[in-house]
Amino acid sequence: MNITSKLRIGGMLVGYYRLCPRKAWLSMRGIWMEQESDTVALGRLLDEYSYDRSDKHIEINAEAPDGTPLVGKIDRATLKNGVLHETKKSRSCEDAHLWQVRFYLWLLTRNGVTRSDGSPFRGQLDYPLLRRTEWVTLEPEHIDELVATVSAIRELATQDVPPTRLLKRTFCTKCAFDELCYG
Ligand code: SF4
Repeated sequence: MNITSKLRIGGMLVGYYRLCPRKAWLSMRGIWMEQESDTVALGRLLDEYSYDRSDKHIEINAEAPDGTPLVGKIDRATLKNGVLHETKKSRSCEDAHLWQVRFYLWLLTRNGVTRSDGSPFRGQLDYPLLRRTEWVTLEPEHIDELVATVSAIRELATQDVPPTRLLKRTFCTKCAFDELCYG
């Protein structure tokens, strides 16, 4: 199956790839477990009921240097303060969350979008259930890493078989694909 021609890479896929390439491959093949849908739906609900509705939901489209279409669906943006927000229920996949927000910040820079004073946007991870927030910035080394990640995901999309399972199962017990991979 050739899915690269219609591949659009989004922030969640980048986060999945950072956690586990197999998870990214499965989701690119349209395999979407109920638990995963519940987690995304819960994130949306938390966002809806925890924050000021004057903030904006925004979608950003961009192109990677290799021409891959990129898309970012951002939970909330406080435009006047130059902050993109992503709401999560727990910190169990924090590294993936960080890369998801860095990816959105990258899409802004790809489009030349800055704050009115020319400074770059910042990101913020919001964990309303934990009453905690975390700032996210985009550094030059993150951009290099994102370019490499997009290329790697493109390559992954051409593979007919999924990558092997994670050697360390620390994350698998929290992953919706656990039964599929280890059942
Ligand atoms: S269960 Fe583990 S190996 Fe399987 S997709 Fe999830 S993280 Fe990857």
